[in-house]
Amino acid sequence: MTAKLIDGKATAAAIRNQVAAGVAAFDRQIGRPPGLATVLVGEDPASAVYVRSKNRATAEAGMASFAHNLPDTTSEAELLDLVGQLNSDDRVDGILVQLPLPGQVDSARVIATIDPAKDVDGFHAINAGRLATGLDSLVPCTPLGCLHLIKAELGSIAGLEAVVIGRSNIVGKPMALLLLGESATVTIAHSKTRDLPGLVRRADIVVAAVGRPEMVRGEWIKPGATVIDVGINRLPTDDGKGRLVGDVAFAEAAEVAAAITPVPGGVGPMTIAMLMRNTLLAAHRRAGLSDPEGL
Ligand code: NAP
Repeated sequence: MTAKLIDGKATAAAIRNQVAAGVAAFDRQIGRPPGLATVLVGEDPASAVYVRSKNRATAEAGMASFAHNLPDTTSEAELLDLVGQLNSDDRVDGILVQLPLPGQVDSARVIATIDPAKDVDGFHAINAGRLATGLDSLVPCTPLGCLHLIKAELGSIAGLEAVVIGRSNIVGKPMALLLLGESATVTIAHSKTRDLPGLVRRADIVVAAVGRPEMVRGEWIKPGATVIDVGINRLPTDDGKGRLVGDVAFAEAAEVAAAITPVPGGVGPMTIAMLMRNTLLAAHRRAGLSDPEGL
C-alpha cells in the first residue's frame, strides 16, 4: 500500500473533544446542556447499532440524550405526534429520526414535520434548499464529515475535479453541493452513468456512496487522487460474523491513490462527530448565541 490512510477515527475523536468543550461552555451560559432526541422505529439491527452509538456519543459529549424506541407497528400519526412533541420540547435542540422507517410510515412526511431548526440530519427541504442556494443551514452529517476529511487532506480544493458516485439526498447530492461550495469542479455519477471508470479516472477527488461492495476498482483511480469511501457493506464470512467492506476495492485503490479512507474507521466515525457538532450548532442558534468557534 502506498496511499496515506485517512484516519477518520482520530479526526472524529478530536472533533468530539472540541464539541464536549463547547457543550460545557453552553451549559455554563444557558443553564442546561444541548439535547439530542433520537427516534428508532422497529428492530432493524443495523439501525439499532447506529442509534445506540449516537446516544452513547451524545452522553459522552455531556449533552442530554432522549432516546425513543418504538415498535415497528407504530403508525404514521403516532410518529408525527411524537415529532410534534419533540419540536415543542425546549430541552431538545436536535431531532434524529433513524431511517429507513417501516412501510406504513411516509418518511418524507416525517422529515417535513421536524422543525428545520432542530433538523440535525439536515434532511428537511428547508435545509436542503438553503444548502443548494449557498445559505447557512444544517448540513447532512455524512457528507459534512467527508468534506472535513477532504479539506484536512488537501487544503483548498478550488478547481480540482471531483466525482461523487451516488445521488441520494442524504449523501451524494449534498456532497456534490458541498464540494461545489468549495469551488471544485463536480460531476455526480449514478446507475445510469455511462463509462463510470473513465469518469472516475479524471477525478482528483473520488467520493463513493453507492452501497455496492468494492465496486470502484484500483484501475479506475487516477494516480495521486484522494479517495473517500462512504460505503458500508457487510459480506458473509465462514464464522457467520460477516466482514465490512466499502464501495471501493481498498487494497487495489490504495496502490494508486495518494490518500484513502478505510472501512471501517474512515467516514463512519465522522458521521457521528458531525451529528454532535450539528446538535451543538443548533443549540447555539436556538439560544440566540453566535456559532461555536472552530467547528
Ligand atoms: P442509496 O440511497 O441507495 O443511493 C445509492 C446511489 O448509488 C444511487 O444514487 C444509485 O444510483 C447509485 N448507484 C447504484 N448502483 C450504481 C452503479 N452500478 N453505478 C453507479 N452508481 C450506482 O444509498 P446511500 O444512502 O446514499 O448510501 C450509500 C452507501 O453509503 C451505502 O453503502 C450506505 O450504507 C453508506 N452510508 C454510510 C454512511 C456512513 O456513516 N459511513 C452514512 C450513510 C450511508 P440511482 O440514483 O441511479 O439509483
